[in-house]
Amino acid sequence: TIPSATVALGGRFATELPELAVPWRGAEAAEPRLLVLNEPLAAELGLDPAALRSEAGLRLLTGSAVPDGATPVAQAYAGHQFGAYSPRLGDGRALLLGELEGDDGALRDLHLKGSGRTPFARGGDGLAAVGPMLREHVISEAMHALGIPTTRSLAVVATGRFVRRDEWLPGAVLARVASSHLRVGTFQYARATGDLDLLRRLAGHAIARHAPDAAGTEHPHLALLRAVIAAQASLVARWMLVGFVHGVMNTDNMTISGETIDYGPCAFMEGYDPETVFSSIDERGRYAYGNQPAIAEWNLTRLAEAMLPLLDEQEERAVAMAVEALDGFAPLYRAAWSSGMRAKLGLPADVDDDAASLVVDELLALMESGRVDLTSCFRALGALARGGEPTAPFAAEIVPLRDLFVHREAFDAWAQRWLALGPDAAAMDRTNPVYVPRNHLVEEALAAATDGDLAPLEQLLDAVQRPFDERPGLERYAAPSPERSFRAYRTY
Ligand code: AMP
Ligand code: MG
Ligand code: MG
Repeated sequence: TIPSATVALGGRFATELPELAVPWRGAEAAEPRLLVLNEPLAAELGLDPAALRSEAGLRLLTGSAVPDGATPVAQAYAGHQFGAYSPRLGDGRALLLGELEGDDGALRDLHLKGSGRTPFARGGDGLAAVGPMLREHVISEAMHALGIPTTRSLAVVATGRFVRRDEWLPGAVLARVASSHLRVGTFQYARATGDLDLLRRLAGHAIARHAPDAAGTEHPHLALLRAVIAAQASLVARWMLVGFVHGVMNTDNMTISGETIDYGPCAFMEGYDPETVFSSIDERGRYAYGNQPAIAEWNLTRLAEAMLPLLDEQEERAVAMAVEALDGFAPLYRAAWSSGMRAKLGLPADVDDDAASLVVDELLALMESGRVDLTSCFRALGALARGGEPTAPFAAEIVPLRDLFVHREAFDAWAQRWLALGPDAAAMDRTNPVYVPRNHLVEEALAAATDGDLAPLEQLLDAVQRPFDERPGLERYAAPSPERSFRAYRTY
């Protein structure tokens, strides 16, 4: 064990919901070596970076030592994977070490991924490779810097052990922090046990952590459901506004907190195309960019079904309440997305909604027909609004904004109408990032890191951690892939 002075972890989840928690330990890491430590996050959590870097710290971050008083557990959950229900998924290669308590009393989970097989591992080896864990680190930090709710990565530690995928790859453990790891699938699991008391305790735990205001309402469980619907509508709208494709929106990968979780085959879309899919296992495009809002609503319907017995004793009334709450999703999503799009186009408050949606829809249609790079386009529009030379950065050359479009005259006409609305360039630059983790740069950084060179990863992190702040020397990080082959990019 390591002294609890290093990190004090509570066991609220394990104590309140023992039916969902299997006490477990991490595997021994042969030769732990720190690859990346998130010092600002450590500071925010009140953890001492030097202690985390120490031998004892690395043992904590890989799960091979347990702080005094902590009870690490593997969490049980169920879930719909690509639409098919699995009654028992759970943490097959992950552990909840326990909860950190902030000065304000708020709890945050400290959780490990890649820490060895658990009773939920089924055929899996319980391990993770360096590449995918660093991918989660980079992309989740980029999302956080973009202001999008997400789990955070505290550290990635190489284990010194090899894991077998298509080839042998160096292994790693990711230490992540989340406001909780409660998922839609957690409720599905609790409901499927038939134990109404467990379902009620789970909802109470979720309310305390994520919807404390719900506790004081007439119907706290309905208020919880509404809060999750609202949080997810807002979250998915934010994904859409930056071109984030989650890639595996199974119900076990959707949080109750409204934080983005489980960075597997995720990636940022470059050329605008609603049908964009990056994951090779998503053969039918279920989780394509443009389907994400509908899938979120589908997942929330599964949550509502799991919560039915908490809504009302009488099924018919419970269903009516659930339907009414779910009907809130579409308007909430539309409102969040529309106001986000207004901001991306710098539209002043006096532009009415009809004029705004016309200008947005026309632009998106033009972007789609030319597969225009989403990030470059909005950033270059900010320059156009300022009256500057509207260019979009490319690897080899600077390309005029209008040359990104196939229908250039149509773009010119659109731009005139938009400029007449008086867009606010400074506001646009605060909402349209210059730097997102582009696929070819992520691949380059992960390949180098797997070979032992962390420099490209650190450069990429530097760019995406200040995404709105244009910096000389980082032009490459603002540019789409020079190779058109990245249009057919596959994450795995
Ligand atoms: P995911 O697709 O990452 O959401 O994972 C789906 C399920 O598979 C979860 O129950 C994971 O814990 C489990 N799983 C994924 N990879 C592994 C692995 N290498 N070993 C054991 N379980 C795994
Ligand atoms: Mg998962
Ligand atoms: Mg995963």
